[in-house]
Amino acid sequence: MCGNRSIYPTGGASDRTRHVLRGPMNAHRYDVIVLGAGAAGMMCAFEAGRRGRRVLLLDHGERVGRKILISGGGRCNFTNLHTRAENFLSANPHFAKSALARFTPADMIALVEKHGIRYHEKTLGQLFCDDSAQRIVALLERECGDAGVETRCGVKVIKARQENAAAVASKFVVETSAGDFAAESVVVATGGLSIPKMGATSFGYELAQQFGHALIEPRAALVPLVFAPEDRERWCDLSGVSFEVVARAETTGKTRRKVAPEFREKLLITHRGVSGPAVLQVSSYWKPGEQVCFDLAPGREVLAALLEKNARRDAANLVAALRAILPARMAERWVAAQLTLDWTNAGIARMEAALHAWTLTPAGTEGFAKAEVTAGGIDTAELDARTMESRRVPGLYFIGEVVDVTGWLGGYNFQWAWASAVSAGQAV
Ligand SMILES: Cc1cc2nc3c(=O)[nH]c(=O)nc-3n(C[C@H](O)[C@H](O)[C@H](O)COP(=O)(O)OP(=O)(O)OC[C@H]3O[C@@H](n4cnc5c(N)ncnc54)[C@H](O)[C@@H]3O)c2cc1C
Repeated sequence: MCGNRSIYPTGGASDRTRHVLRGPMNAHRYDVIVLGAGAAGMMCAFEAGRRGRRVLLLDHGERVGRKILISGGGRCNFTNLHTRAENFLSANPHFAKSALARFTPADMIALVEKHGIRYHEKTLGQLFCDDSAQRIVALLERECGDAGVETRCGVKVIKARQENAAAVASKFVVETSAGDFAAESVVVATGGLSIPKMGATSFGYELAQQFGHALIEPRAALVPLVFAPEDRERWCDLSGVSFEVVARAETTGKTRRKVAPEFREKLLITHRGVSGPAVLQVSSYWKPGEQVCFDLAPGREVLAALLEKNARRDAANLVAALRAILPARMAERWVAAQLTLDWTNAGIARMEAALHAWTLTPAGTEGFAKAEVTAGGIDTAELDARTMESRRVPGLYFIGEVVDVTGWLGGYNFQWAWASAVSAGQAV
């Protein structure tokens, strides 16, 4: 929960204040104001506080770290052991490297262990809390408290401006629902657009644009895909059926330099389309109008038995073969969905090929209301990769999801939040 400390705590951060700021009357003064008390904002705040900086952390929610609490099914997948820059989408695929090297999964694990939080690897290097995501929020709150960070919840940030850009570069006034606050540095950690009911706003993007930063168009990512009406009619009564696939977004776009990666994980049919980890992963690469492709039998030749001498070549035997890789209802539906069943060797080979390339053109995604993250965001071209500082406006920093760096599913987004936060926290 947010601290109820007074604006100027005794014997705390105020005693450590090394910078006397001058500016408009009635503005409370800090070295650093961090906007947004999510994963990135809290981490950055205590990293700066540990260095003796006087830090104010603001959030309009009633409590800090709300997305952390709902993350990882309530257990917070707080990092991934295999984190590399390749696990992130960004217009500049190299941008994240410096921050990710500065604060690694091992550093996060050390912090988690320092707080006695038990964790386990679920799959593919994904580390989750054994009990509750609340433990990660408590860790961050404790570190913020120990570092003398002043945290204020229920405070909506309305605007940030340079106090007097001509006379005193890098001095800011932050206008909020609780009055004005001034600081030498402002760190924007207000996140992306996903899950508006958890407090997501476009504030960070607007502020960036106000200061002349370009945006890579924000879009819903790690999000379920919605079928066109005919596919919905054909498949969606199987809602709840799940099976392993290799999934990829078809990269037909002319501007793509690289082929989108493949993901071998579960697919889940929903009442409107498809979801599950495999689909969430490819959704981040999918663009409207493009196709997604699923290999329903990764690494297996399923119909070989039908090609054998004396094998029965009929729908019942085809369903039986498919049941080795698919749930019964999906196997039956897949056979029923074939326009023709051609029992020649060539026809069976075509069916085998079709199984390895179930190709669909989604009508869209479930949008920001259901997206785990927002891809796109503040263009990294004008950010310093070592510090996250704006190259346009000294003293202004952007960290976490608001930046055009988006991780795969599996703890990568929190690792980016922590890493970018530490980079800025050591620089402000
Ligand atoms: C359901 C779900 C599950 C997830 N699970 C995982 C997981 O297990 N592992 C993983 O790595 N990632 C996960 N993610 C993604 C991860 O939660 C985010 O990438 C991460 O929280 C981003 O951190 P952030 O600090 O940049 O932004 P946020 O956590 O979104 O924090 C931004 C903060 O800014 C505040 N804010 C916004 N505008 C204003 C304003 N104008 N004034 C004041 N405050 C403002 C918001 O209230 C919010 O607290 C999940 C996301 C969702 C939605």
